[in-house]
Amino acid sequence: MSSTLQNHELTCDILVAGGGPAGVPCAIAAARNGAKVILCQNRHVLGGNASSEVRMHIVGADASGSRGRDKPLATETREGGLMEEIRLETSVRNPQRSASMLDLILYEKCRAEENLTLMLNTEVVGVEQDGKRITKAIALRQSTEDRFVITADVFIDCTGDGRLGAEANAPFRRGRESKEEFGESRAQDVGDNKSLGSTLLFQARKYDQPMPFVAPPWVRKFTEDDLKLRPHASPGVDRGLEYGYWWVEWGGNLDTIKDNEDIRDELLAIMLGIWNHIKNDGDHGAENWALTWFGFLPGKRESRRFIGQHILSENDIWDCRSFDDAIAFGGWSLDTHPPDGVDAIDERPCNQPQVPYIYDIPLRSCISRDVPNLMFAGRNISATHIGFSSTRVMATCAAVGQGAGTAAAYAVTNDISPTDFATNKEAMVDVQQMLLRDDVYLVGITNQDPCDLSPKAKITASCEREGGCAQNICTGQTRAVHGELGAHPERANPGTHRWMSGSLPASLVLRWPHPIVPKHVHLIFDTGMHRPLTLSHSDAFVERMQWGRAQEETVRDYILEGEVGGTWQTLDEKTGNYQRRVEHVLDTPQAITALRISVTATNGLDHARICEVRVYESDPRQ
Ligand SMILES: Cc1cc2nc3c(=O)[nH]c(=O)nc-3n(C[C@H](O)[C@H](O)[C@H](O)COP(=O)(O)OP(=O)(O)OC[C@H]3O[C@@H](n4cnc5c(N)ncnc54)[C@H](O)[C@@H]3O)c2cc1C
Repeated sequence: MSSTLQNHELTCDILVAGGGPAGVPCAIAAARNGAKVILCQNRHVLGGNASSEVRMHIVGADASGSRGRDKPLATETREGGLMEEIRLETSVRNPQRSASMLDLILYEKCRAEENLTLMLNTEVVGVEQDGKRITKAIALRQSTEDRFVITADVFIDCTGDGRLGAEANAPFRRGRESKEEFGESRAQDVGDNKSLGSTLLFQARKYDQPMPFVAPPWVRKFTEDDLKLRPHASPGVDRGLEYGYWWVEWGGNLDTIKDNEDIRDELLAIMLGIWNHIKNDGDHGAENWALTWFGFLPGKRESRRFIGQHILSENDIWDCRSFDDAIAFGGWSLDTHPPDGVDAIDERPCNQPQVPYIYDIPLRSCISRDVPNLMFAGRNISATHIGFSSTRVMATCAAVGQGAGTAAAYAVTNDISPTDFATNKEAMVDVQQMLLRDDVYLVGITNQDPCDLSPKAKITASCEREGGCAQNICTGQTRAVHGELGAHPERANPGTHRWMSGSLPASLVLRWPHPIVPKHVHLIFDTGMHRPLTLSHSDAFVERMQWGRAQEETVRDYILEGEVGGTWQTLDEKTGNYQRRVEHVLDTPQAITALRISVTATNGLDHARICEVRVYESDPRQ
């Protein structure tokens, strides 16, 4: 059959399919760690369920702040690494809370990576295999009538629905397991094929005159009784009028892939039916409110979950099981919903028992059991329905994405197979150390990088405050997690894990017994990780945050100086910083006996805080 499609052959080390909350950090992490990466995203914007097309707010292990909000310097459970970099960037550059700005920031981050080729509007639709091993992925860009055959060593499925892996016949699960199958107390008595449903969100605004709403004739009719367990049109998180309702959920009894078009139509009828109820049935105080946006693309919660080398279950999470191959941590509740969604009028829209501690997510849950070079990250990882109900939140998906991408980069640059990590302890430790270097927190694991010269230095400060001695920059951990709902006490490593000066200006000095020639200096600053921070369209949620600006704890202006022959010389300086992790590459390396970091201003606090200083004589990524 003839076709207008033009064929192209492409080659890379790692193909990442799907540019959602998992795929973007996965691709960036792999690229930053030296792999040539192609990221295929089937739609025109990145971000998946967080994109401007769906507009869910990203939450994660901090449980929207309920773990640490009142526990500064004790329970800091916001994700680090790329997720934090994206959150901080979005906060500072998007005080207006535009959904499109997140699309842009994700796009910019991908475009900025030399090793990463971003292909938007490009859908992975098939694979070629040699035995079980995937050799090529087939991707279509219909808008330009192009077909790509992409050769790679490792393929990472971040499509949510698991399209790439399904094409490779990788085993997967759907539906809900029985209690018996994994010994899960919160599972069904009898397993079934049902899943969490999908949702269409809306955004609305209050005007200074009445705004009528004329509903299409096909909208569903809702009464107060139908919504008695679904608070609406009242102040508070998830209740206000400005940001739709995640509980506008439906389709969990259907096939969320095959029936997606029907689910969309019904969700439109439900979402607009609820708005019609708010506007036109009784007094909801909504006379001056009007819809400014609503989705046409169902936000999909659940479909395929791959079977990996380990299936993460309720017990792993609830018992906070320690995994030698941990690449990320989670902490969201076990968050299940009735598959009937809004039709389950006598059931609460969610059941969310709080997980007692943050928990490990193992790399083996991201590696296919049967297809040796297939990895996955995001909502399709290897987990039971109950396990997935916690790992599925987007910041956790992002953390897993960064972990999987980093491991894949290690695999291709060291010529090993992803399946080898399960038995190659040394490789696993290397990957974990790479993640820590990139500001990922892994429960109970500390910096052991032999190339980092900071632990060999004598560390002093111009001033310190209680709990914040200068030596804290070398504890190997960069956050406090010993507080209530933090890490399990046996692995929490109590302490503030940061230098805190008495006042400003203040300086920190690292002095070595012999001269060193630093080339790379990595700094980790405090960004208030006990507080939630996310782009949200919910006004009440944003009130919990320091949104639209830098976080007050973060060092803003500072100078790096080296002691050369007894005098201090400026090596580098920065003003206006708002990031947690800052990397300085010193262009003209010279021998120094001491490094001084002089802080002149923060973004709000009256004292300086630095969590970690790493000093390298060569590029640690080489
Ligand atoms: C209504 C709703 C409410 C939720 N509430 C929250 C919440 O408040 N906070 C939170 O953090 N999480 C929430 N979740 C969960 C969260 O949104 C998902 O679990 C998460 O988005 C999964 O991330 P992902 O990257 O795995 O998949 P997705 O977000 O689904 O992203 C997958 C990406 O892959 C692309 N893609 C798909 N197929 C292909 C292909 N064949 N080729 C190329 N690209 C492809 C898609 O376009 C998409 O960009 C909610 C989910 C829904 C639906």
